[in-house]
Amino acid sequence: MAEVILTGVGKVYADGTRAVDDLNLDIADGEFLVLVGPSGCGKTTALRMVAGLEDISEGRVRIGDRVVNRVPARDRDVAMVFQSYALYPHLSVRDNIGFGLSLRKVPKAQIRAKVDHAAGLLGLGDHLDRKPRNLSGGQRQRVAMGRAIVREPQAFLMDEPLSNLDAKLRVQMRAEIARIQRDLGVTTVYVTHDQTEAMTLGDRVAVMKKGVLQQVAPPQELYDRPVNLFVAGFIGSPAMNLAQGTLRAGDGGLRLEFAGQTLALPGEVLDTRPALGAYLDRPVIAGIRPEDMEDAELHGGDEGARLVSTADLVEAMGSDVLVHFAVDAERVDTEDTKELARDAGADPLLARGGPTGTRMVARFSPRTR
Ligand code: ATP
Repeated sequence: MAEVILTGVGKVYADGTRAVDDLNLDIADGEFLVLVGPSGCGKTTALRMVAGLEDISEGRVRIGDRVVNRVPARDRDVAMVFQSYALYPHLSVRDNIGFGLSLRKVPKAQIRAKVDHAAGLLGLGDHLDRKPRNLSGGQRQRVAMGRAIVREPQAFLMDEPLSNLDAKLRVQMRAEIARIQRDLGVTTVYVTHDQTEAMTLGDRVAVMKKGVLQQVAPPQELYDRPVNLFVAGFIGSPAMNLAQGTLRAGDGGLRLEFAGQTLALPGEVLDTRPALGAYLDRPVIAGIRPEDMEDAELHGGDEGARLVSTADLVEAMGSDVLVHFAVDAERVDTEDTKELARDAGADPLLARGGPTGTRMVARFSPRTR
């Protein structure tokens, strides 16, 4: 096991495409770090540079106490798990899992013991003699994991390992990957475009956009304190509502005026975020998480903190009810928000705006209806 340190890492492909720009990441020994971002943001390229599958154009990658820029992939002592599993169809599960060890001429008895141990961890003990074609998608994914585990590498590098599984299996395997990583304590770098996967798996999550790292933080901090609009819109589902307004002082607190409405902000807001003082009477973009709104007819709540509108679309989703509505305001119309709505598959209503004003969405629990 080892720490993985990226210092000023960049990648420019032969055709001039800059895929990664000045990436700095300190991944601690035993940490589970998730690289997340929309398609094309450079996360796979970054992982492949750590793996040795892609040349490093700029900067340095260190694994443990070695700078590995010039170390070939096979000597980096890392194990990759791909979305395609990359299993050998003609080999049994046992031989697939033990393949890397056989190549390294590890004694047969040792291979057997290690494969049995990994199969036990993965619940594959009864399937060791089968061929991959006779396994389900989830079982094949486990075999790919098994192959990584038996190598006892310094780090696991995983590139969207769950994306070929159906939704239910994905959730199940996600929990298993978390458990196995915790039990083995192997430093793990995991690439995904799925923010739920990122938030549930990562000790820390690194959010990338167009080759540039935006923020790296524990999941809760990303959610509570996104550093910019992109992270604010990317993390959270449904996406955070964004509306342009003005911050005013008065009545012992702050008010946000937007959408022809006035929202009183909690009194302590200035204490916890003193920097807000600099934005008084200036245009701001307010972010309100859908799950932080509640139905005033049912909950009452603070008179001063009400938005008045009529729902124009209600989507019942079982555990949640999404209520879409419009308030009459200028829409947020920066390049950043349009892009984040598109990239993040964020609520398209965010980007729409138009004659009916700012579109927002609230997430209520069905019990509150
Ligand atoms: P996805 O989730 O779609 O896999 P990603 O975030 O992993 O995306 P990368 O695959 O790392 O992104 O690609 C980053 C950028 O580099 C993209 O603009 C991509 O088109 C470009 N790119 C990737 N591979 C090459 C290559 N071999 N030559 C030129 N450009 C490339």
